[in-house]
Amino acid sequence: MTHAIVVHETGGPDVLRFESVDVGDPGPGEIRVRHTAIGLNYIDTYFRTGLYPPPGGLPMVLGMEAAGVVEAVGPDVTGFAQGERVAYASPIGSYAEARVMPAATAVKVPAGVSDEAAAAMMLKGMTARYLLREVYAVGPETTLLMHAAAGGVGLILGQWASALGATVIGTVSTAEKAALAKANGYQHVINYREEDFAARVAEITDGAKCDVVYDAVGKDTYPASLDCLKPFGLWASFGQASGPITDFNLGLLAQKGSLFATRPTLFTYVATRERLEANAADLFAAVGSGQVTIPVNHRVPLAQAADAHRALESRQTTGATVLIP
Ligand code: NDP
Repeated sequence: MTHAIVVHETGGPDVLRFESVDVGDPGPGEIRVRHTAIGLNYIDTYFRTGLYPPPGGLPMVLGMEAAGVVEAVGPDVTGFAQGERVAYASPIGSYAEARVMPAATAVKVPAGVSDEAAAAMMLKGMTARYLLREVYAVGPETTLLMHAAAGGVGLILGQWASALGATVIGTVSTAEKAALAKANGYQHVINYREEDFAARVAEITDGAKCDVVYDAVGKDTYPASLDCLKPFGLWASFGQASGPITDFNLGLLAQKGSLFATRPTLFTYVATRERLEANAADLFAAVGSGQVTIPVNHRVPLAQAADAHRALESRQTTGATVLIP
């Protein structure tokens, strides 16, 4: 037996229950991992509320991301051994002291990367990586805008984009978050509670605007995010912290300058073992070289995951939060 956060019915943070669950032994293709740190992600709230349907139905153990130690290896698994440190960003079920999972989605954690950093970087860091490297090839010529710049993905993306030589603009909701974003790669930070962010982007760029806008705020920043793009610019809408966009108008892309739009998800970008390994290797290299530091700013006991959800959804957190089993 072990303990996990189980959701029996979707809803607010109160539906998260800390319960005893049977962990079992790994079958073919599986490993059992004893978690040392678990990553908190906004997507966990989408599954909790029912915005995203539970992949295997209810009840479900929440959570996508964690790091830990391999405790047992299934019959035909190669490449992993008992006692090795691993981390992963899927499948769902990480809010647990221990779990059985497919070996195919786990990667080994290099020496020098702490368990907390690994638990905080697999989902958020690989997201920053595919956004900067694959959704758009960011380089010294790129001007980009990232919303929620002081968040979990935001602080990683800012450091990495800056290391790639881009002009990096971010939005935040408080002065404290603005200072943090500035310390993490953002050359320009806009407080979108005080200023019209599209007007400020035009000012900052002398009217040229951005090549790409990374927008995971959703409802509240649509359609103004489109006004931040130059002709042929790319709008990467990758989340909905303020609520989903339900009135997307394709015609706006024409009106605002033959824009491109994409709605990417990490899980396509790491769907094959080759993709996962390439993405994780690039991320570990960026962290190992010191270009990117993983900001673990909050630690919460696993049993109190509901409090961590309340803090994330009320915009009180910065950087990453890890749940400690
Ligand atoms: P964050 O730490 O960034 O937290 C969300 C932030 O969004 C808040 O801190 C807040 O920053 C901002 N925000 C704006 N409006 C609201 C609102 N109404 N309610 C709550 N927050 C709001 O979370 P994550 O780093 O975990 O994730 C960031 C986003 O990226 C999420 O939308 C998530 O779904 C998405 N994501 C998408 C992935 C993909 O592959 N598609 C993968 C990973 C994450 P501020 O106060 O500064 O506005």
